[in-house]
Amino acid sequence: MLGLMQNQPLLISSLIDFAERHHPEGEIVSRRIEGDIHRCSYKDIARRSRQVANAMEALKLAFGDRVATLAWNGYRHLELYFGVSGTGRVLHTLNPRLHPDQIAWIANHAEDQVLFFDMTFLPIVKAMQGKATSIRHYVALCDADKLPADSGIAGLQSYEALLARQPDTFVWPEFDENTASSMCYTSGTTGDPKAVLFSHRSTILHAFAGGLPDALNMSARDSVLPVVPMFHANAWSLPYSAAMTGAKMVFPGAALDGKSVYELIESEKVTFAAGVPTVWQMMLGHVQAGGLRFSTLKRTVIGGSACPPAMISAFNDDYGVEVLHAWGMTEMSPLGTVNTLKNKHLNMAPADKLKVRVKQGRGVYGVDMKIVDPGGKELPWDGKVFGDLHVKGPWVIRDYFKSDAGSPLVDGWFPTGDVATIDPDGYMQITDRSKDVIKSGGEWISSIDVENIAMSHPAVAMAACIGMAHPKWDERPIIAVVRKPAATVSREDLLSFYTGKLAKWQVPDDVVFLDAIPLGGTGKMQKTKLREMLKDYRLPDL
Ligand code: ADP
Repeated sequence: MLGLMQNQPLLISSLIDFAERHHPEGEIVSRRIEGDIHRCSYKDIARRSRQVANAMEALKLAFGDRVATLAWNGYRHLELYFGVSGTGRVLHTLNPRLHPDQIAWIANHAEDQVLFFDMTFLPIVKAMQGKATSIRHYVALCDADKLPADSGIAGLQSYEALLARQPDTFVWPEFDENTASSMCYTSGTTGDPKAVLFSHRSTILHAFAGGLPDALNMSARDSVLPVVPMFHANAWSLPYSAAMTGAKMVFPGAALDGKSVYELIESEKVTFAAGVPTVWQMMLGHVQAGGLRFSTLKRTVIGGSACPPAMISAFNDDYGVEVLHAWGMTEMSPLGTVNTLKNKHLNMAPADKLKVRVKQGRGVYGVDMKIVDPGGKELPWDGKVFGDLHVKGPWVIRDYFKSDAGSPLVDGWFPTGDVATIDPDGYMQITDRSKDVIKSGGEWISSIDVENIAMSHPAVAMAACIGMAHPKWDERPIIAVVRKPAATVSREDLLSFYTGKLAKWQVPDDVVFLDAIPLGGTGKMQKTKLREMLKDYRLPDL
């Protein structure tokens, strides 16, 4: 017997309809690339999203056509999030930090028909336009009078002029909730970019879960600043969850340095911010150097790569800002786990609490996890045994778009490529990416553990641990370190800093000081590039 409730498809257009009706005055604040601060409301975003929808018709795009963006976080990008997907076209957020040839490859693979781009990215667009053969229309996200006459892009039009020609009435179509809504290519940290194709259903369910109290805990009282780019895995669902809850949104545009982000946090009374650890490292550096305080910031979600314990302590103990350590993947929309404490942890001694907090967190309802051995046998949740982490759920990938490799699933589960432990309370801790684990003398060394200790040294700004081939031990770890400006620490100091913190055989064999560690398109350390940089390096005992 079927239930007798309404069967309304879960569609992205319903989010902006809801925000317009229930939170028309909810604020959307953006730092524009022109440098000024732009203010509008959910009512404005809804109206302009309908103009975007009409523009989709005017550009003669078919249902399901891919519409690409090369854009910073801002109100226009938000309008495209709703206006493009709401009509049944697929929003494809391209990552501008990739090489233009790679972007063109991705645009061709996706068969993008239109490209909306911020003027900052004009040089990239020029470099890729001859190669990205499927793109029929180029639209610059700017006012008509900001469009250069000599842009070098044939038929280039301005977004504002395009929108101005469109009526602001539009009835969102109703279609199957499993229809594709948006797509994002993995940043290729560990190989060729692969296309993840989200659906309306997966996006809405993910937005519901993302807003839950033990996930990102979003509400109409929040002022939310996503430093995480809107081209990186749906900005971790924040644009959707914010519309669902009526939270104020604050977009940093292109100014992602510590000073600019801090100023925006203070001036817009931001309560909740989100980004990868490298971004918060810059922010903490700025705040510490200037002896500044956060007056409204209550919590920050940090994920995308392991958040060093020193960063969790600094935010928590020195600034009273709660860190939500989170883990996910583009293939998971991306939220998988978020670290919030259970009742039993609340009265723990600070050092014990930190041991819980550094883990990547508990599964969000909707994501099922397990760890397995190389034979696929499920391993216990004892917090000690580690294995390959597999996940499943309604916002986890089933197949990559246009992939010849077949479904990545194993017995219905998606193998994440991460190695992890899960404790009896359900807290998952990433040991490493399987490609980054260091195998020494038949034992495994977690590069994350080695990095976290280096990062707790006051002179260290950034640290990356990689394995180097060794004839006897197979591999031995070394640590590449970037020192803080004006700080001094020697190789010997740093190696002795490990004493008592790791077993002797886990301590790196050497320290390599660098000016910078290569970062990928989403701000994560690129160990493949680092390995290339250090290809002529020899371990001290060889
Ligand atoms: P890419 O695979 O292109 O880097 P993703 O952003 O999807 O793009 O990366 C997902 C991966 O990032 C995860 O599989 C995991 O290895 C890593 N990751 C994400 N969050 C964390 C975290 N909190 N701690 C450790 N690793 C993380």
